[in-house]
Amino acid sequence: MHPEFEILLDRCGDLPSPPGVALRVIALAQDPAAHLAATAEVINHDPALSARILRIANSPLFASATRRPAATVSRALALLGLNAAITLALGFSLAAAMRGGGQVAAAREHFWRRSVLSAMASRLLAERAGLEQLEELMLGGLLQDIGALALMQVLPDRYAEIGNVPASILSLERERELFGSDHAEVGAWLAARWNLPAYLQRIVARHECGHYEGDPELACVAGSGLLADLWLRAGTPEQLRAIATELERRTGLTGLETARLLERMSASAPELEALFEVRLEHPRELRALHGRVQELMVVRNLIEIRNAADARREIDVLKARTRDLSEQVRRDPLTGAYNRLQLEEVLEREFEEALRHDRPLSIAFIDLDDFKRINDRHGHLVGDQVLQEFTRCLAAQLRQSDLLARYGGEEFLIVLGNCDAAAARVTLERILAEISRTPMALIDGVPLYITFSAGLACQGGSDQFASADALLRAADEALYGAKRDGRNQVATPGG
Ligand code: GH3
Ligand code: MG
Ligand code: MG
Repeated sequence: MHPEFEILLDRCGDLPSPPGVALRVIALAQDPAAHLAATAEVINHDPALSARILRIANSPLFASATRRPAATVSRALALLGLNAAITLALGFSLAAAMRGGGQVAAAREHFWRRSVLSAMASRLLAERAGLEQLEELMLGGLLQDIGALALMQVLPDRYAEIGNVPASILSLERERELFGSDHAEVGAWLAARWNLPAYLQRIVARHECGHYEGDPELACVAGSGLLADLWLRAGTPEQLRAIATELERRTGLTGLETARLLERMSASAPELEALFEVRLEHPRELRALHGRVQELMVVRNLIEIRNAADARREIDVLKARTRDLSEQVRRDPLTGAYNRLQLEEVLEREFEEALRHDRPLSIAFIDLDDFKRINDRHGHLVGDQVLQEFTRCLAAQLRQSDLLARYGGEEFLIVLGNCDAAAARVTLERILAEISRTPMALIDGVPLYITFSAGLACQGGSDQFASADALLRAADEALYGAKRDGRNQVATPGG
């Protein structure tokens, strides 16, 4: 705090100060040996305070439905618990000091409304976080911004420049510009002067510090002021969105949870209005509140939709990768033709289908002619190239529904679904003609041609096979015949 400003505060005779009963309650609050009778006596001295304590002990906010209502202050204290009762009494007895009239009555009324809302919000946040000191944190919510009172009182004209957002994060920067200090710093000074309990001094001093991780109590108080700002719609829509974001950072409240919490605040508002003698919300304003909640939820939904879209994209990428992988295990790495594993699976299935629907099924074993000689003359790399080029040409000649697999080495198998022996022979001979006039490689500019031998077997009509394996053996046998008869030809079993 600026030293000159501290002197100014010190000399100001008009600072808010606690009334006598509050001083006595403050003393009780710091006395570990305080007992019920003495506390009841202090409270009984102040009729307004007694009435409030009775009221709160019997209020739905604190009382359980089945309980007998408290008729005396001592009974109320017993019901509330001494510690909670002293804390609440402290809040009520300081209320007078916080409310007041003074030169800035309208600003102070707004400030008071915001303080009561913060108190309620802080209690609800503490409940949500599973914390135990609900009353202490409620009082923390109520008192956190007392520094703003001192600022208002010392330099009212200057404070008026802050406008309708006193004591909020929106006013912090401006307070420092105007006073060389902010409400948290001045509040800490005032809390020490009032001799408030240590935990309250800490809350007042640190509630705007910006670091709330690992400090759930402080986070509740720091979040409560923001909830009050949302309720009071202090600021432009952009500022409110910034407040909602900051609220999430401080407390982890999502848009939806914020909406629910504002609903709960609105349900408890009548009770609080009676206890603190303040009007918190007008029905018209309450509708606006719901509009604001909706707005928050829209922002939240947008975030959720974006997250879901990200997740979907990730799943799509993973699915594509899985597809790629499973495709990889089905294919021969050199030629890209299906491998033997896939062949066996498909052939089995196709054979069953052909039998079931009484459809013809042709298969052909294809073996390159004198392939060893290519390797021997031109090397394995050229041999590999020839295998690749051959596969490309062969695949180009087949229908989409046909299957081409590398059986091993320079042996291939093609499966022609719904294709009878005659059609298969025509197809194979066309392919052989095409392959034998297509250069498979260029060796020093000289084209290299190949031929193949094929053994054809067909299931259907007069040729019935017991199994896919039997059909395969028949094709292999036919291939052997084609080789024996001079290569570069298509043969059928026995023919
Ligand atoms: P035939 O006309 O009787 O079929 O004679 P061939 O020389 O084609 O048959 P053989 O079985 O004697 O030789 C096949 C050769 O194919 C032997 C082997 O080294 C070669 N081979 C098998 N797989 C590959 C491969 O992946 N790359 C290369 N470059 N050669 C291969
Ligand atoms: Mg504040
Ligand atoms: Mg061969």
